[in-house]
Amino acid sequence: MKLNELFEKKTSLSFEVFPPKSDTPVETIYDTIEALGEAKPDFISVTYGAGGSRSNATIDICASIKQKHGIEAAAHLPGIYLTKAQALEQIAQMKERGIENVLALRGDRREGEEPAGDFRYASDLVSFIKENSDFNVIGACYPEVHPECADIVSDIKNLKTKVDAGCSQLITQLFFDNETFYDFREKTAIAGINVPIEAGIMPVVNKKQILRMTTLCHATLPKKFLTIMNKYEDDPIAMRDAGIAYAVSQIVDLIANDVDGIHLYTMNNPYIANKICSAVASLFRS
Ligand code: FAD
Repeated sequence: MKLNELFEKKTSLSFEVFPPKSDTPVETIYDTIEALGEAKPDFISVTYGAGGSRSNATIDICASIKQKHGIEAAAHLPGIYLTKAQALEQIAQMKERGIENVLALRGDRREGEEPAGDFRYASDLVSFIKENSDFNVIGACYPEVHPECADIVSDIKNLKTKVDAGCSQLITQLFFDNETFYDFREKTAIAGINVPIEAGIMPVVNKKQILRMTTLCHATLPKKFLTIMNKYEDDPIAMRDAGIAYAVSQIVDLIANDVDGIHLYTMNNPYIANKICSAVASLFRS
């Protein structure tokens, strides 16, 4: 199924997982996916190459999500280190394995590695995929501005170019203050971007992890959130439960404000994802 059809019917719920690290058997992810399936997500997306994980596992995992677990899948594909020939090869493999949805990204530059030069921006990869396949293409967006961009106006202008190149839906970077999302959503609408935008929510399970993530992506930590982190940083169970409660409160508010969908960064932790989803399950009714 092409995922853009989802939003006509309901508020979507999707999960993001990453392939296991190279010293862990790839099969370990399948128990995680089985457990995540309990929450009945509309789709699961699988990252590519992020954090030293195995890029070639992305397609295998997506194919399994779809065929063995009966859940729709989206494969992430960063273009920065791909030549056009390699991108064509990836597209062909995805097609062969029955994948219909791609999250087309630029990807982050790795120290000491020269970009291939064929896809300078994600929008170049989006148009290339649209020209060479019939995939549904998803794009990434940044309510608090992409870290390399000088201001929100330029970032939204660049986002419009990406959407016009062929993205039928967007997924946001994680954020902890819903007001930044509402402000961003309004600005994108003014700019004429009218594809569905799924809100990216990451439950906090430990302080170190969240500080690392937020340093990387420049997400603002609201006072309320910092108070919770500081209070429970030495009590892992309380921290986990507070993180779950915070994510639930974000989701309730987003759905009440007619968000198109929720994309949960699961960190491959089905316990937390399922706790959150069972607390808000009735809100996702069509
Ligand atoms: P782009 O849309 O190309 O934007 C990158 C920067 O270039 C922005 O500052 C933008 O304003 C600017 N820009 C864009 N077009 C132009 C233009 N024409 N002229 C001037 N400036 C321009 N990374 C991975 O490696 N693997 C993953 O699996 C992965 N999954 C992700 C999933 C989500 C939901 C998100 C939000 C991010 C993910 N990332 C992943 C990280 C992503 O690759 C980085 O954030 C990267 O820095 C930007 O990717 P992009 O696709 O948003 O790039």
